[in-house]
Amino acid sequence: MSSLQALKALVVLQEIDIRILELDKDREQIPARLKEIEQQLAERLSALGEDSNQMDELEMSRRMLESDLRAEKEKIKKWESRLNEIKSNRDYQALSREIEAARKANLGIEDEILKKMQDIEDLKTSIAQREEDLASLQKELGAEKEELESKLQSLTARIDQEQAERNEARSAVDDRWYRRYDMIRKRREGVAVVEVRDEHCQGCHMGIPPQLYNQVLRGEEIETCPFCHRILYYKQALDELD
Ligand SMILES: [Zn+2]
Repeated sequence: MSSLQALKALVVLQEIDIRILELDKDREQIPARLKEIEQQLAERLSALGEDSNQMDELEMSRRMLESDLRAEKEKIKKWESRLNEIKSNRDYQALSREIEAARKANLGIEDEILKKMQDIEDLKTSIAQREEDLASLQKELGAEKEELESKLQSLTARIDQEQAERNEARSAVDDRWYRRYDMIRKRREGVAVVEVRDEHCQGCHMGIPPQLYNQVLRGEEIETCPFCHRILYYKQALDELD
């Protein structure tokens, strides 16, 4: 195999690897977004759960106030019937004043009950709104989730296909160059083979010394960039190979 042929095999492999890299990048983002969607829905659900707890508390304190009120009214009724049996004017007046004070206190409890009922109504409205919002969000995110899942599937299928092509391209590269390629690729964000254009390395964009440039153009040996150490090729020379 000539150097140019070996180089050509490396370029083919590199092109596939770049496509796989990009597909992988697209695919990687999907699980994070899916997780975000789950979190967003979970947060809304938990806010609704808190509202519902608050509702329970409001209902409970309303019931307690109502039971207090019933007990107080019962007590007043008893006092009122006792009032008829009292002979002493002074005792009568004292109990009357107690009854009056108790009635006033009951008005306060009734106000509190009304306030709780208003709070309950307000909370019910807010819960209904939250439920409505959640339902539409669930619909929206559900659609996005479905789309993401199908995208994930198609990306995986494309990656598998590229992998199969890669295996074939890999077998056309000799082991020594493959090891070199793999090592550079790992250190240079996945790009180990780059074009030389206008006397510049297209990987690091540094100018190539003239002598090296001429060697790359001739393609008698596989050369690497003195700055980024990537493998260099001259596109026209490879195109002429076909
Ligand atoms: Zn370079």
